[in-house]
Amino acid sequence: MYHDIFCICSNAWDYVRGIIASDVEHDIMRCEEMITLIDDDELQMENSVDNYPSMVTENDYGKCLIATSDIEEGIAVAKFDGTWLKYKKDDMKPIPDEVPADDINHFLIIDEKNLVIPNTSARYINHSCDPNCKINDDMEVVTMRPVKQGEELTISYNVIDKKWIDATWDSRWDFICACNSPICQGVINKYVCRDGDKWVQVGKIMQNKEACVILSSE
Ligand SMILES: [Zn+2]
Repeated sequence: MYHDIFCICSNAWDYVRGIIASDVEHDIMRCEEMITLIDDDELQMENSVDNYPSMVTENDYGKCLIATSDIEEGIAVAKFDGTWLKYKKDDMKPIPDEVPADDINHFLIIDEKNLVIPNTSARYINHSCDPNCKINDDMEVVTMRPVKQGEELTISYNVIDKKWIDATWDSRWDFICACNSPICQGVINKYVCRDGDKWVQVGKIMQNKEACVILSSE
């Protein structure tokens, strides 16, 4: 039987899906605090330990973050926190060597020296071309418009300010968007900004051979 196993380590969630017998030992080693096996009814309560009105669940495309109540504009619904790393900006390496392979689609660059690999629920927030949330200076995910209970919370992965002309997109991040927005870009394969009713490329693209391997395995 399969269960979701949640560990509380340093006030952060570690989310592991698999067979309990094979995962418990791993988690005990990593987490000295406690291990909690919870059912669906408890999931919402446990997820709100951090006091954000959101929870991780699954949709047709994998894990996602949804609102656990009706939420007004300007409310924090999650926070990016976890493993903070120093790195040296290199336009030839949009994905710094310091980022483990499993995290290349989850890490968040804070500035030219710092990045975070989130282990909070924000790790699972998906992209939309017309997102209902943005990230503020405190690394919190904040609603940009009212959101209904159960609605998926989204941010944009690739929409940036025009002034960031030195930004470099790595093709290992490419994916086909399923946001269904009227302004959906279709394929997400570069940084863009909105110019009138068009998406315009900003910055460069780093084609990475590994992208072919990663995309074909999904
Ligand atoms: Zn889209």
